[in-house]
Amino acid sequence: MNNLLDYTLEELKVWMKENGESAFRGKQILSWIYKDINDFDNMKNISKPLISKLKENFTVNMPKIIKVYKSDIDGTEKFLLGFEDGNLIESVLMRYKHGNSICISTQIGCRMGCKFCASTIDGRVRNLTTGEILSQILVVQNYIKERISNIVLMGSGEPLDNYDNVVKFLEVVSAEYGLNVGQRHITLSTCGIVPKIYELADKEFSITLAISLHAFSDEKRKEIMPIANKHTIYEILEACRYYINKTNRRITFEYALVKEINDSKEDAKALGKLLRGMLCHVNLIPVNEIKENTYKRSSKKAIDDFSEILTSFGIEVTTRREMGSDINAACGQLRRSYIETQE
Ligand code: SAH
Repeated sequence: MNNLLDYTLEELKVWMKENGESAFRGKQILSWIYKDINDFDNMKNISKPLISKLKENFTVNMPKIIKVYKSDIDGTEKFLLGFEDGNLIESVLMRYKHGNSICISTQIGCRMGCKFCASTIDGRVRNLTTGEILSQILVVQNYIKERISNIVLMGSGEPLDNYDNVVKFLEVVSAEYGLNVGQRHITLSTCGIVPKIYELADKEFSITLAISLHAFSDEKRKEIMPIANKHTIYEILEACRYYINKTNRRITFEYALVKEINDSKEDAKALGKLLRGMLCHVNLIPVNEIKENTYKRSSKKAIDDFSEILTSFGIEVTTRREMGSDINAACGQLRRSYIETQE
């Protein structure tokens, strides 16, 4: 059986033709699915024989909601989702004045090995399919009975390490027949897999590219992010400039502030010099402390000083508001603690 959520319109049209049906049926079927009609019998404009064919060949696979944790502080909801093969992922719904935003995962686990991150501790189990990435939005939307208008690919996994499925996801989620989420409301975060940044730029999506930089020099970056042994900051920034030229989109640099590791005034100045003049914005993230390592969050003063110094270089800076701190909101923490309690 094939999961219909794994199909782009083009792919489904091809299937229709190969199976003696008109290509336009593809659009009708996907439109039902993304309007949350998953039962083929309820697809009103589809003939009985085609419905039987669909039943023989396709399913619409949705993960099960295993648990929902709601923050008492800010209403953030964290969903622990289970796939048929028993694997778990987490997706986080954040409610803002400008609409609902969801943080979704792209892989089960991760193989990038960033030292401060909980998602990567047991490595990568497998990639998520396009449909599994999409279904996180569908299942949560269905649960809250409201539309989700912003998407960030910042959950577990490295999106550019699952490039093909993620690109297909971006196509479907932003398509009119799909979830019709504006590409400007989608952010993809990567630790910096340079060749894939070029490939993504060539797609000319108008999504926001976020780069997890976390250090101003390769030497420092290598201490916390193994990917820095493969690609230098210079190469990343070159790729970012290419991305900006292709898409005209401003890049976001994420910088997790870790006490006494990368949060000094010297770090801030060096980062300011590095990024000065670029079409970018820096998002400072006070590191979420996890029990598996000893990294500590920077003091409020260090964060404010860091932000002020960057601003003095003419760089726009925001400090990420912590959402759902009472519900293990840092990536990967929930899945890990749930698995541990089951063992
Ligand atoms: N693999 C992608 C996306 C997933 S992580 C990437 O590296 O960008 C999303 C963001 O959260 C990244 O910037 C990541 O470095 C950061 N992150 C991971 N663990 C964190 C923690 N414990 N505290 C703060 N930020 C963290």
